[in-house]
Amino acid sequence: NSPISRTDPEIAELLNDELHRQQGGLEMIASENFVPRAVLQAQGSVLTNKYAEGYPGKRYYGGCEVVDKVETLARERAKALFGAEYANVQPHSGAQANAAVYQALVKPGDTILGLALDHGGHLSHGMRINFSGRFYKAESYGVNPETFRIDPEIIRKRALETHPALIIGGWSAYPRIEDFAAMRQIADEVGARFWVDMAHFAGLVAAGLHPSPVPHADVVSSTAHKTLGGPRSGFILAREEFGRKINSAVFPGQQGGPLMHVVAAKAVSFKIAGTEDFRNRMQRTLDGAQILAQRLQAKDVADNGISVLTGGTDVHLVMVDLRNSELDGQQGEDLLARCGITINRNTVPFDPRPASIASGLRIGTSALATRGFGDAEYEEVADIIGTALAQVLARTPTPQSQSGQAGRRLPAVSGTPADRMKSR
Ligand code: PLP
Repeated sequence: NSPISRTDPEIAELLNDELHRQQGGLEMIASENFVPRAVLQAQGSVLTNKYAEGYPGKRYYGGCEVVDKVETLARERAKALFGAEYANVQPHSGAQANAAVYQALVKPGDTILGLALDHGGHLSHGMRINFSGRFYKAESYGVNPETFRIDPEIIRKRALETHPALIIGGWSAYPRIEDFAAMRQIADEVGARFWVDMAHFAGLVAAGLHPSPVPHADVVSSTAHKTLGGPRSGFILAREEFGRKINSAVFPGQQGGPLMHVVAAKAVSFKIAGTEDFRNRMQRTLDGAQILAQRLQAKDVADNGISVLTGGTDVHLVMVDLRNSELDGQQGEDLLARCGITINRNTVPFDPRPASIASGLRIGTSALATRGFGDAEYEEVADIIGTALAQVLARTPTPQSQSGQAGRRLPAVSGTPADRMKSR
């Protein structure tokens, strides 16, 4: 009989349904996580009532003495956690953080060079119908066609061809570590700025388990809600010299009043990310991904034409390659949903199938690490996924089996569409 169930029983019931969905399944969408109660509390706090356009000490509203302290704490914690000279904690989301980065570093019409969307890049790195592809001249680099890895030589060649004003590092669906030093060198060689969007691997960087882009990039943007495990939102780190430009690009350039309740929740998550417990969680995240990658390369899975892109992973996700399998991405996603495992299908580089079907599965381990998973639990879940992928074709032979292109549907999955909803 909580306030929300009295005021709005329909929404209260849906919140409850979603809680049960999250508790009842295995969440393996690589961009998702579970926030601690402290973050939920900050995000559901009275700070949501406060307007605070501007920055601490320079607001356009009265009554900001408390939220100034909140934002200052969040900024200082972000700087200390990542060893950055400057932090802006106001972006409402990763995409908005990125919009501000463009606004601070380049002019409309300038050439930008990022990882191609269908090779694992993000929409905001130059996709044609995203603002980044509409306002800037978006060029892209792909992965090496033999190794499927991001290859500095390919970036260098593309940079020499396209003369970008901005080179973008970072990704949404890629299982390896990039060479930030080499990318910096290329940017210097062609006179470009270098920006890294570490949204996916920020938690690993905070834990010291992934190289930091901060010493190499002019600007680093991130979300707070993926491996970092904070509230759904963004933030930006940079060298001090870019601070003024980024501040004005975020406010008033892209946003009005900051969401101070979310800024407080970010502060809480930066504090948590500095702890030994968090480091342990990130280590379990990485160990889980290794266990999964190994199981998905066993013979029974490989016999179905299924492999693991790049032969493994350095991060919190595994990219399953279904290009040589009769099982397609949509079917793989549905199949795992029937096992109570939520993942998302994803294109893989050089994907012969349309993006709506895709030939890849992106499977992440962060959320389960937050739930306390260790080796034994990851071994079990990896075996469930491996066994399901290995057996599904054997169990459901179809006439299309010979064609190499799966056109059939698996039986309908249980649960609501939301159960199978995916996000990058
Ligand atoms: N940058 C990268 C690399 C991402 O993967 C994502 C989200 O998936 C974003 C930015 C966008 O974040 P948001 O969904 O908060 O706008």
